[in-house]
Amino acid sequence: MKRVYVKEEFCIACTLCEIFCAVQHSASRDILRAFKRETPRPMPRALVERIGPVSFSVQCRHCAEPLCVYSCLTGAMHRDEETGAIVVDAERCIGCWTCVMACPYGVIRQGMYRGHPVAVKCDLCPGRDVPACVENCPNGALVFAEEAPHA
Ligand code: SF4
Ligand code: SF4
Repeated sequence: MKRVYVKEEFCIACTLCEIFCAVQHSASRDILRAFKRETPRPMPRALVERIGPVSFSVQCRHCAEPLCVYSCLTGAMHRDEETGAIVVDAERCIGCWTCVMACPYGVIRQGMYRGHPVAVKCDLCPGRDVPACVENCPNGALVFAEEAPHA
């Protein structure tokens, strides 16, 4: 399956991947409305890590052996049979955060959905050919591909 891969050498930590990820997962999908009028403000699923001059965008690896899925108490965290992406069923999630502790990459965040806590993570932007983070990176620091670009 296709995944999002990073090319750290091209990342300048502008955080546009975070911004457009949040807009993609907002109610309005409009950048101004999403950031100025929506409550709670939509959360990004991609997070830019910075260590000195090194930066890169981190998001779910959609693992072949997904510890988040194996640890989920309710079956909310599951693999989408069509896309292969690991996704959350917000209606089934009880916000126990077991998946947050199980994920070795630290890419699951604690959010809210219709007044109850819910796990929030990358879903590879269902309905889009290319995830929003990849499409809106101005430097080509993210690629959506079957294999890592350096492999
Ligand atoms: S959330 Fe973490 S454990 Fe689950 S598939 Fe993504 S990277 Fe793997
Ligand atoms: S927080 Fe939600 S998705 Fe995560 S383990 Fe608990 S019920 Fe499953």
